[in-house]
This record gives sequence, structure tokens and C-alpha cells, in this order.
Amino acid sequence: MNCKHLKFICHSRVGRMVEEHELPIGSEVMPLDFKVDIKVNCADCGGELLFWGMPMGVHPTRPTISADQKEVRLNAGIELKAR
Ligand SMILES: [Zn+2]
Repeated sequence: MNCKHLKFICHSRVGRMVEEHELPIGSEVMPLDFKVDIKVNCADCGGELLFWGMPMGVHPTRPTISADQKEVRLNAGIELKAR
């Protein structure tokens, strides 16, 4: 493979964790929490970036990666001025 991997395509998926009306009283879960899953491919050869440095799986507050290391899973929230 002679690709120099100079351009990339980032695929992201954002999921809402909890709808506000679904929150139980006293819940510590923020109503505007999101999960953001990201994959990155080389735009020329399609090679997938592998991620490391984070545990595998899913965690409610910490970033993780998928078992195949091709997806990073982040936790996010909306900035205060947008709430
Ligand atoms: Zn490439």
C-alpha cells in the first residue's frame, strides 16, 4: 500500500442519553448528556484509524474504545449558554 494517508473522513454518531421528561426525581444523570461515537477513515485508501490509550467498552463518564479499536466513544454535554 503506497497511500500516504493525507486526508481523512470522520464519521460521528451522537446519541441522547436521557430525555428530560424521563428523568426520575433526584437522578444524578444530567438531562442533556450525549454519547459521541467517532470513526475515522483515510479518504484515499479507506484505511481505518485505530485508537488506543483508553479502556475498551462503554462507560457512563469516561471515554472508551470499541473492542476492535476502530471507534472511540466519548461522553459530552451541551454548553451552558445553549441549554
Ligand atoms: Zn490512506
